Amino acid sequence: MSRVATATISFDALKHNLSIVRQLAPGRKILAIIKADAYGHGLLTVADGLQDVDALAVAHIEEAATLRQKTIDKTIVLLQGFIDESELKKLCSLCVEPVIHSSYQITILEKTQLPENFRVWLKVDTGMNRLGFSKDEISKAWSRLNKIPQLKGRVRLMSHFANADDLKKAHTHEQIDQFNSMTAAYSAEKSLANSAGIMGWPQSHYEWVRPGIMLYGVSPFMGKTASAHNLKPVMTLQSGIISINHIKKSQTVGYGSCWQTAADTQIAVVGCGYGDGYPRHIAEGTKVLINNELYPIVGRVSMDMLCVDVGADHRLQVGDSVTLWGDGLPVEYVAEQAGTIAYELLCQVTSRVHFKLTDNGKN
Ligand SMILES: *Cc1c(COP(=O)(O)O)cnc(C)c1O
Repeated sequence: MSRVATATISFDALKHNLSIVRQLAPGRKILAIIKADAYGHGLLTVADGLQDVDALAVAHIEEAATLRQKTIDKTIVLLQGFIDESELKKLCSLCVEPVIHSSYQITILEKTQLPENFRVWLKVDTGMNRLGFSKDEISKAWSRLNKIPQLKGRVRLMSHFANADDLKKAHTHEQIDQFNSMTAAYSAEKSLANSAGIMGWPQSHYEWVRPGIMLYGVSPFMGKTASAHNLKPVMTLQSGIISINHIKKSQTVGYGSCWQTAADTQIAVVGCGYGDGYPRHIAEGTKVLINNELYPIVGRVSMDMLCVDVGADHRLQVGDSVTLWGDGLPVEYVAEQAGTIAYELLCQVTSRVHFKLTDNGKN
């Protein structure tokens, strides 16, 4: 076992999760969201595992360019669109479809020579109040876009949920109603559902669904974990025990001497810390998994190490593998213990972590 942190990426889990998307939204086209380095899983790795989807989406043009070098034919959507004419020209040359959320972008489109097969997605704001055209602006935006000859009949409509992860919130019903009323007049393919929409709001599926977090085997719903939805975690973060030490009663462990032993015990030191992306502010006592047993983290997480109280009586050895999250220990649990969401933990895995593919992935 390696003593450095390793993130194992399971292609089988990724493909399994994609099959769950298809089960929940049969016949709908899939725009797989792989922004932020595929939620920390590796942009090209995940793109490779998702060859069957209809299109891929990223947030930044640099990611789109990287992706285009490797995926020749796939439709790529740029969720934040372009900021100026030079970016628009670049994404035209990359054959990338921008999301249009503001009228300044339409002005740039009107002034630029566009390729024949160009396509855009028009984003409407249905209550997130972040990006998109409001109900007063939509008809003007639609008609301006459709006056551009290359875009006539080639505009798709989309919006984004603010609260779909909470099944009790009325806001999502209001967003769906708003989306229906804002787009009723236009004949175009439509898209609204993120993972929570796919799993919890079937009336939001339309022609295209946009799964993100569920593809990585994580529940979008508070208080739920992947297994409740038959999803499988794609990333398992592990490291090894690098030392096991006898510590006497009433001694403290780690920086700040925050944690004190109640009795003589043994402390396993694990080669993973916040320098790998494990959260420093994790709650005391959060569990890690070693040889199918859970043990609590004690003392502060440091940059390269964390300490686990394994008790006076154990059979662990230096070199034993420690799971920080993933298969056997839900990342949703660790995120809750850190006061955050799994999205953030996954995105924060740092570049020094070794990435390894399993199942049918190459490498
Ligand atoms: C990130 C994102 C998604 C995916 O959201 P998940 O909650 O991860 O499924 C879908 N659509 C847009 C516009 C996004 O930015």
